[in-house]
Amino acid sequence: MSALTGLPREAVLGWLCLASGLGACLGSFANVLIHRLPRGESVSGPRSRCPHCGHRVRWHDNIPIVSWLMLRARCRDCGAPISARYVCVELAGAALGALVLLRFGPSIAAVAALLFLVDLLAVAVIDWQFMIIPHSLTIAGMVLGLALSVWCPVGPGGALVGLLAGAGLILALGYGYKAVRGELGMGGGDVMLMGMVGSFTGVRGVLLVLLGGALLGTAYAAVRYRASLAGKTRLPFGTFLALAAAGACLAGEAAFRWYLDLLH
Ligand SMILES: [Zn+2]
Repeated sequence: MSALTGLPREAVLGWLCLASGLGACLGSFANVLIHRLPRGESVSGPRSRCPHCGHRVRWHDNIPIVSWLMLRARCRDCGAPISARYVCVELAGAALGALVLLRFGPSIAAVAALLFLVDLLAVAVIDWQFMIIPHSLTIAGMVLGLALSVWCPVGPGGALVGLLAGAGLILALGYGYKAVRGELGMGGGDVMLMGMVGSFTGVRGVLLVLLGGALLGTAYAAVRYRASLAGKTRLPFGTFLALAAAGACLAGEAAFRWYLDLLH
């Protein structure tokens, strides 16, 4: 059941527009993070420029989703193509905005979940493209997770225990893997990412995400590297953890109940 059941239809539509609009704007900011953080550039300024001709992007060409469509995916100044990634991330942000509203209703918990999910979106794309997880994203996530936990189902105690459990468990897994294989299986970025995940989802979420991330990563590796299983291959593990964390945030309780029912 949706958290919006019982509200008049106009109110539901209004909230959905607001939530998906906010999600699209946050997605637009995620695009800035995805472009600048791996290149070591400042996030706060200067204003966005076309990476091809260097012209500043005008404010009216910077409206999420709409501008990309109006410009037909080309720079207004030089005509260079603008990657579809920009509009995809903005659309994903809009969809996440609608989903957190349906899940949590109009609440601070919904805003917290949206910030968490957009942070995960940036982590997922950056790790996929560059095989790194910027600490600035995960540390900001942990601070937000702890600060907003008062208004979230997890609560402050649950957020703190979740943070420690998330970082601690993946650190232990990493060292366990090192003892067996002689190399570190995860990076510090994965440790910080799981700390952030724990601060939003608590210990239950951490367990779900580790399981889900491992399953997704294994499935991807099986398809992608079927021909070269013996060779050493690096996986963007953070991307799979981020996908699993998004699932745990939006449907974690349902997944946990389903799992407990199976045991009975
Ligand atoms: Zn240009």
